[in-house]
Amino acid sequence: MSKEIPYKIYLKEEELPRYWYNVRADMKTDHCPILNPQTLKPVTVEDLEPVFCTELAKQELNATDRFIEIPEEVRNFYKMYRPGPLVRAHFLEKALGTPAKIFYKFEGNNTSGSHKLNSAIAQAYYAKEQGLTSLTTETGAGQWGTALAMACGFFGLNLKVYMVKCSAMQKPYRKAVIETYGAQVIPSPSDTTEVGRRMLAMNPDSSGSLGTAISEAVEVAVSTEGTRYVLGSVLNQVLLHQTIIGQEAKMALEKYDCYPDIVIGCAGGGSNLGGLMAPFMADRLAGKHAPHFIAVEPASCPSLTRGKFAYDYCDTGKVTPLAKMYTLGSGFIPSPNHSGGLRYHGMSPILSQLYHDGYLDEARAVEQTSVFEAAKLFAKVEGTLPAPESSHAIRVAIDEALKCKETGEAKTILFGLTGTGYFDLAAYMSYNAGTMSDYIPTDEDLQKGFEGIPKLEGIQ
Ligand SMILES: *Cc1c(COP(=O)(O)O)cnc(C)c1O
Repeated sequence: MSKEIPYKIYLKEEELPRYWYNVRADMKTDHCPILNPQTLKPVTVEDLEPVFCTELAKQELNATDRFIEIPEEVRNFYKMYRPGPLVRAHFLEKALGTPAKIFYKFEGNNTSGSHKLNSAIAQAYYAKEQGLTSLTTETGAGQWGTALAMACGFFGLNLKVYMVKCSAMQKPYRKAVIETYGAQVIPSPSDTTEVGRRMLAMNPDSSGSLGTAISEAVEVAVSTEGTRYVLGSVLNQVLLHQTIIGQEAKMALEKYDCYPDIVIGCAGGGSNLGGLMAPFMADRLAGKHAPHFIAVEPASCPSLTRGKFAYDYCDTGKVTPLAKMYTLGSGFIPSPNHSGGLRYHGMSPILSQLYHDGYLDEARAVEQTSVFEAAKLFAKVEGTLPAPESSHAIRVAIDEALKCKETGEAKTILFGLTGTGYFDLAAYMSYNAGTMSDYIPTDEDLQKGFEGIPKLEGIQ
């Protein structure tokens, strides 16, 4: 007889993982190399060094070391808010009347309100170690900008955050938090960069996009002494840092002899899902029993379910390297009535390859009103007001639990509750007022984005 499972499973501080797990080292087919956009040759550490810290450039290209030690200072910072709890969603199970066991890994218990701090603190640490003085980045919904501002504040680094203009206007309080930690917020597109000025000339009323904000932040990083650029998702290094999530979740489940049948995560750039599923993916890649993996994305920005698997730029200004990934085209800008995050045009190359090869089993696109319906139920019964991004995973966890109710199967479902929704209240207000609508791009809409994917004779 297994032990009774409590509402929350806590790990001890000393159980905090000492290594990040590099799933790439175990993948049967590594993802296609990231290409230098000028030479179309695989990028080297030297190519990446003007943009990224050297240690992070090495992590980006590391396909061989299975484990990378978490530096002591980073691990000590983690101790302020980790290990995070694994929560058994008893109340949600009861509300749904499902025999399924639902667990969620909660990453919202730090001021940034999301999992993004796990990578922000690591990236700021390596910048400090290298003797850099400043970092630049972009932020969409604002969680990454907040997380990085916290990390830079901790290590005494300057930070410029290019914030997608519509978010900067919708979320003045995010801006206030970022500034409190000492960083500077610049709405993007801005007149502080060449790319920004070009975008403004084309469309002075542009509400901005993550792709443009990335181009601006990269431009400033490569043209300013002692400055590098950092990114909060998509990259291999970010997925690597986020494996702390999956390792803790797996360890917590093992204490109660549990193993998930289904692992669900929302997918914007793929970092939280990649991090949550990595240690379970290790089982799959080793030929052992493993869960069914589901990536959940918004129907309005459907890179995995409707995108092309192709080499594309990671930004709108086409200054970044080319990555082979599921993409909607770097010029794709989701409809402004899309409220939640997860607006990025591409997807992590690691996740893309795993999906292409059938290891990441399934991707589902869900509509935002159904996401907020799930968010509201979750908030009522489990107490936590979820971030709209996380609520994509909640939606599918509920759908899977309801399937169990029909079949009578008591499956174990694990999903990532990546953050809280306190800065997304405009979206909640619109849902509560009944004015939120769904938007699904037509094939013609998507075609416009696909036309911007580079042709690259002989490569794709
Ligand atoms: C950024 C963010 C996401 C999506 O990013 P991924 O890289 O796909 O994980 C999901 N949830 C929250 C709360 C976020 O802040």
